[in-house]
Amino acid sequence: MQEIIIIGGGTAGLTAAIYIQRSALQSIVLESKDFGGRIFPTLAIDNYPGMPGVSGYDYSELLRKQAEDLGSKLVVSEVLNLEKRQDGWLVITKDTEYKTKAVIYAVGEKARMLGIKGEAEFLGRGVATCAACDGAFYRKKDTVIIGGGDKALDDALTLSRICNSVQLIHRRDTFKAAGSTVELVKNTPNIRLHLNKTAISINGTNKVESITIANTDNSEPEDIQVAGVFVAIGAIPQTELVAEYVTLNENGYIIASDDCITETEGLFVAGDVRQKPLRQLVTAAADGAIAGKAAADYIIHNSAI
Ligand code: NAP
Repeated sequence: MQEIIIIGGGTAGLTAAIYIQRSALQSIVLESKDFGGRIFPTLAIDNYPGMPGVSGYDYSELLRKQAEDLGSKLVVSEVLNLEKRQDGWLVITKDTEYKTKAVIYAVGEKARMLGIKGEAEFLGRGVATCAACDGAFYRKKDTVIIGGGDKALDDALTLSRICNSVQLIHRRDTFKAAGSTVELVKNTPNIRLHLNKTAISINGTNKVESITIANTDNSEPEDIQVAGVFVAIGAIPQTELVAEYVTLNENGYIIASDDCITETEGLFVAGDVRQKPLRQLVTAAADGAIAGKAAADYIIHNSAI
C-alpha cells in the first residue's frame, strides 16, 4: 500500500510531492506526458517570482529534479481509472495498478484549441494561449486573439497595453464576456474587432507571419500580417477520473475548500482543475504545497489506515 499518489506531474503535482517528501512520507507522481505540464513548451516564464526569464523546459526540469532528489518516485504512465476502496484507493494505469491511502488529483486543464492548420506547428513559437504568460514576447508587435469570452477580451486588453496592435477575431457579433469588458475593448484604440469571422490557418515558415481569416461561411478569406496568435476559446478541466467523487461548478472545475480537501475522504485536489479565481504557475505551486501538507497530515493523523 502506497502512502500518497499524485496524479499529474505539473507544477501543482510536483510541488505537492516536494511537501510530502519533506514531511518524511512517500509519494509517487504519475504523469502521462511531460513533467512540468502545460508550462513545458513556454519559451520564457516572466511572471513566476524570483525566476525571471527561465524557460518552461528549464523550470520543469528543475522542479522535476527537486521532487526526485527528495525521494519522490516519478513515473510516466497514463492513469486510466481511479476507484475508491474501503481502505483507500486503487489507481489503475496503462502499465500497472497501485493501492494507496490518499490521492492528490492535479491534472489541470487543457486549452481548447481551434484545430486549424499551423496551430499545433507554431504552439509556443508564435501561437500562445495565455496573454499574462506570453504577452511580453510580443512587445510592440502586431497580434491576433481569437474568442469572445471574458478570457479573450481580458487578454485583448492585456495585449493592447504591450503590443502595437491587437485584432480580435470572433465568430459572432455578440460576446459572452461581461458588458463592461466589451465596452472597454471597443474603446481601446489599438484593438480592432473582426466579428462574424473565423480563423482558417496560421501561416509562416520558421515563425508565425500571418493568419488567414474569413467570414463564418468561409467566404472572402483575407490574410492579416501578425507575429503572434493568441487562442482564447475556453479551457477544458480534466475531471473525468474523479467526477463521481467530487462536485463540479458550472464551468466544470472541481469545488474544494481552500485547503484543497474534497468531499471524499483521502482525495485532495490541486492546481488549475480546482475552482479558483486565478490560474497561474504561482497559484498552482501554492495549491500543491497546501494539498501536499493536507494529504501528509491526513496520513499522519490516520496512521492506523
Ligand atoms: P468562454 O466563456 O467559454 O468563451 C469561449 C469563447 O470562445 C466564446 O466566445 C466562444 O464562442 C468561443 N469559441 C469556443 N469554441 C470556439 C471555436 N472552436 N472557434 C471559435 N471560437 C470558439 O471561455 P473563457 O473566456 O475562457 O472563460 C471561461 C470562464 O472563466 C467563463 O465563465 C468566464 O466568465 C470566466 N473568466 C472570467 C474572467 C473575468 O471575470 N475577468 C476572466 C477570464 C475568464 P461562442 O460564444 O460562439 O460559443
